[in-house]
Amino acid sequence: MPKNKILKSYVNGKFIDSRHYFNNINPVNGEVISKIAEADKDIIDAAVASAKHAQENAWGQMPVNDRCALLHKVADRMAEREQEFIDAEIADTGKSLFQVQTIDIPRGTANFRTFADMVKFDSGETFITELANGEKAINYSVNKPLGVVAVISPWNLPLLLATWKIAPAMACGNSVILKPSEETSSTAFLLAEVMDEVGIPNGAFNLILGRGSNVGDHLTSHSGINAITFTGASSTGKQIMKSASDTVKPVSFELGGKNSAIVFEDADLDKAIAGVARSSFTNCGQVCLCTEKVYVHRSIFVEFVEGLKAQAENIKIGYPLEEDVFMGPLVSKAHQQKVLSYYELAREEGANFVTGGGTPKFSDQRQHGYFIEPTVITGLDDHARTNQEEIFGPICHISAFDDENEVIKRANDTEYGLAASVWTENISRAHRVSAKIDVGLVWVNTWFLRDLRTPFGGVKLSGVGREGGKHSLGFYSEPTNICIKIDEH
Ligand code: NAD
Repeated sequence: MPKNKILKSYVNGKFIDSRHYFNNINPVNGEVISKIAEADKDIIDAAVASAKHAQENAWGQMPVNDRCALLHKVADRMAEREQEFIDAEIADTGKSLFQVQTIDIPRGTANFRTFADMVKFDSGETFITELANGEKAINYSVNKPLGVVAVISPWNLPLLLATWKIAPAMACGNSVILKPSEETSSTAFLLAEVMDEVGIPNGAFNLILGRGSNVGDHLTSHSGINAITFTGASSTGKQIMKSASDTVKPVSFELGGKNSAIVFEDADLDKAIAGVARSSFTNCGQVCLCTEKVYVHRSIFVEFVEGLKAQAENIKIGYPLEEDVFMGPLVSKAHQQKVLSYYELAREEGANFVTGGGTPKFSDQRQHGYFIEPTVITGLDDHARTNQEEIFGPICHISAFDDENEVIKRANDTEYGLAASVWTENISRAHRVSAKIDVGLVWVNTWFLRDLRTPFGGVKLSGVGREGGKHSLGFYSEPTNICIKIDEH
């Protein structure tokens, strides 16, 4: 993307400039990549009005087969422009080419294809009612779109997480207003171009660019928005819930996590060590599902800690396009400072640093980037802040446990409830323990293996509701039950 490029909001089929700009920064070297034109209240009002018009007319009235065919065209065009999406995602996030090529961009296109196919088989419920007095009726439900859906997405998997919500929302016949993270707007801008190119009716997809603190509240409190779907921090979720409460909108929230990995004495140790290294350090620890607390059976504790230390020290940190790079930088200077402040807190709380704890030293342009070391610590109490608060960086704390019930209790002793992973070769234990962990998603002997048809979401501070498969179709539509009396004569 050229450095002087200006990313603009997209409203009613047009790209809209503004009088306020902020810089889009490359986290690898701190350089400006592009400028972002920040939307104002008038632009948001126009987006809501055009979304409503499209939903009530061209988009909402379109036969489902035509709508789904258009969403397939979106996926096709994204695939044709794949290299541009890859370059944009790498420039905004500093992620490795391997990750962007194998996860972020292909899963973005898969979201459109999956939900476009799935919605065609969505049907309502039917019941024959027979009352004691002999009256009969048939009840059936018709699924209708909600109207205008605001999609607010984070920076850690920008295209993947935005399309995870846009695709089912549009497949169900809603219009969408996307507000991507201010840190990573480039792939959202490309997506708006794709929507335009393939002929999505004006207003069915709108893009609002800007900082959450400036544009968020006007969007989420807007009376013309019928539902909000949000992925981001639990603290932001709380603000959005308050802001949406006056207009009583449905919300779907995918929020933060403080996820455990539990390694039993009967685990395949090599697989468990490699798996926990992946679950702790993938995307620099910036995945809501990443492990930050590891519980290891006391009998294998020393061996496990040594193994994870070796894995962490073997991680190649560097440029996204370098071969074998596993970790790039954190997304921004502010986030680097936040994660480093947790490394400091861990020190103050008395942690033992097995490895890491600082920033890597470079003698080229990367010294201006936001790199950080993968870090393994031990020695803290479960109630230390380091073990209770989401850090969202490449750090995990390992502690020993003695007994199954004890470790379940300790893993559940958190305000969060998103995901967990269990490492064991004992199949009964795998079933028993997984069902007792208070989270939305448990992996056994794996991590981050996702099927788009399965329910996804968290409990407690980690979210409200579930998306994925029929759960997404359920959130993005509203059933109307129709009851017809059947006369016997
Ligand atoms: P964030 O909450 O800071 O920002 C997310 C989005 O909300 C951005 O688009 C931001 O501009 C917007 N926003 C900020 N303030 C707002 C406001 N007052 N009103 C409306 N919108 C507002 O989160 P982030 O830092 O971008 O992402 C990291 C967080 O997201 C972590 O906590 C992580 O665990 C969580 N996350 C959760 C999941 C999940 O599926 N559960 C997935 C990815 C990330």
